[in-house]
Amino acid sequence: MENLTEWLEADADRRARHLAERLVASSTSIAATGNFAANWQAIVESPFRGGRQAAVERLQAIDPVAYGRSRNHVGGAVTRLSPWLRHGVLSLAEVRDAALDRVRERSQAEKLISELGWRDYWQRVYAARPEAIWEDLEPPAAVARGQQSDHLPADVAAGTTGMACVDAFSRRLTQTGWLHNHERMWLASWLVHTRGVSWQAGAGWFLEHLLDADPASNNFSWQWVAGTFANKPYIFNRENLERYTDGRHCRDCPVAGRCDVEGSYDELSDRLFTAAGDRPERLTIPPASPWFADPPPGQPLVWLTLDSLGVTSPALHRHPHAPALFILDPAWLEQERPSLKRLVFIFECLAEVPGLECWLGEPAAVLTARAAACGASHVCVATTPCPGVRATAAELADRLPVVPIDWPPFCDASRVTDLGRFSRYWNKVSKSAMQPTA
Ligand SMILES: Cc1cc2nc3c(=O)[nH]c(=O)nc-3n(C[C@H](O)[C@H](O)[C@H](O)COP(=O)(O)OP(=O)(O)OC[C@H]3O[C@@H](n4cnc5c(N)ncnc54)[C@H](O)[C@@H]3O)c2cc1C
Repeated sequence: MENLTEWLEADADRRARHLAERLVASSTSIAATGNFAANWQAIVESPFRGGRQAAVERLQAIDPVAYGRSRNHVGGAVTRLSPWLRHGVLSLAEVRDAALDRVRERSQAEKLISELGWRDYWQRVYAARPEAIWEDLEPPAAVARGQQSDHLPADVAAGTTGMACVDAFSRRLTQTGWLHNHERMWLASWLVHTRGVSWQAGAGWFLEHLLDADPASNNFSWQWVAGTFANKPYIFNRENLERYTDGRHCRDCPVAGRCDVEGSYDELSDRLFTAAGDRPERLTIPPASPWFADPPPGQPLVWLTLDSLGVTSPALHRHPHAPALFILDPAWLEQERPSLKRLVFIFECLAEVPGLECWLGEPAAVLTARAAACGASHVCVATTPCPGVRATAAELADRLPVVPIDWPPFCDASRVTDLGRFSRYWNKVSKSAMQPTA
C-alpha cells in the first residue's frame, strides 16, 4: 500500500500530474496515456469542479419549473448535478428539498424529483442484483438483424464516423466527461442497434469518461436502451434528434438525408430487428435486505468511498472527529480505467475534506493497517450498494466490523416488493419522495 495523502495537499496541477503518472505507470487508462497537456487544458476549462462548494453553487441555480418544460431539449434547464450526486457530495434528499423550496406548488417540482427517483431506483436494483451490472437482466426485447461485436470501434472512440451528431457526442464525452441525457440515449442506441456493439462495450466506454460514471445508472441505462431491461429497445430517428437539438448536427452533416437514423420508427424497427424477443416471464426483482451491522464499543475509522466523497458522507457527519481515509483501489483502476479528468474530479472532492488520508492499495489490507495504527475498533462507511465495499465488509466482519450509516432518506421504500420496472417502484414511493425532509 502507498500513502497518497500528499497529493491532496498539492496544488491542482501537481495533483493531476501525479495522477497521470500513476495511470501511465499502471497502463490503466487510454485517456491518460495521451498528451498530458491536452488533457490538462480540457480539465482546466471544465465547468465541473469537484467538491462541495462547486456543488452548492450549482444547486442554488436549479430551476425546477423550467426543468419540467425543457428537460428533453439539449439546451434545456437540466441541473448538471450528476457528478456530485454520483459521488455523494450532494444527496438526493438535499436536491429534492432544494427543488421544493423553489416552487409554489409541489407538483411543479415533480418532473425533477421523478428523475432523482431514477437514480434511487437504479441504486436499489444494483443492491438487489449486483451481478446484473454486466449481464442481461432480461432476454433482449427484440432480435437484432446484424452481428454483435464486443469491441468499441476505433472510429466511434475517435469521433470520426462521419455522422456529425455521433462524432460530436463522442468527442464531447471524451473531452469533457458530460453529455445531456438525450445525447447519451442517442449515442447508446446508435452504437448498440446500428453498429451492433454490445451494450457492455458501450457502458465500459462511458464509465471511463463520464464525470458522473456510476455502474448502476450507467449500465442499467445501457440495458434499458439495448432492451435487456425494458419492454422494447430504444431507437430514435433524425426527426427526433433534430427536434431536440434544433437541427444543429444535421445542418452540415456529410451524410444528411441518407444517414442511419433516416425514416419512421416502423421503418427503422424493420431495418434493425427481425422479431420481438421471447420473454417467458415478466421480470420481478425483490429488493435487497437492508445492510446492517452493530457498532462495537470504541472509536471508528471513517471510510470514504466513491459513493461518499465529501463531508456530506453520513459516516463522517456522525463522526466528524474520527480519522478518515479514502482508498484508491488498483482493482477499480484496472476495471473501470477512469480517465484523468474523472480522477481529477474525484481528487478535487477529496481535497476539500479536512485531515483526510488517501491510500493506494487493496481496501481490506489498508483498512486493517490504518485501524490498527489509530486504535479504531471498527470502520464506518456511508451505506452503498457497491459490491466491492460489501465484499470488503464481509471479509473483515470477524476482526474489524464495517458499519454502514444511512443517507438522509429520499423516500419511504418499505412498501416496495418488486423493482422489475421503474413504474412499479415509483408507484409505491412517489408520494413520500414528494415530501420535504421533516
Ligand atoms: C446510456 C446512458 C448512460 C448514463 N450513465 C449515467 C451515469 O453513469 N451516471 C449518472 O449519474 N447518470 C447516467 N445516466 C442518466 C442521465 O443521463 C444523467 O444522470 C443525467 O443526464 C445527468 O445530467 P443532469 O445532472 O443535468 O440531470 P438532470 O436531468 O438535471 O437530473 C437531476 C439528477 O437526477 C438523476 N437522473 C436524472 N435522469 C436520470 C436517469 N435517467 N437515470 C439515473 N439518474 C437520473 C441524476 O442524478 C441527475 O443529476 C445515463 C443515461 C443513459 C441513457
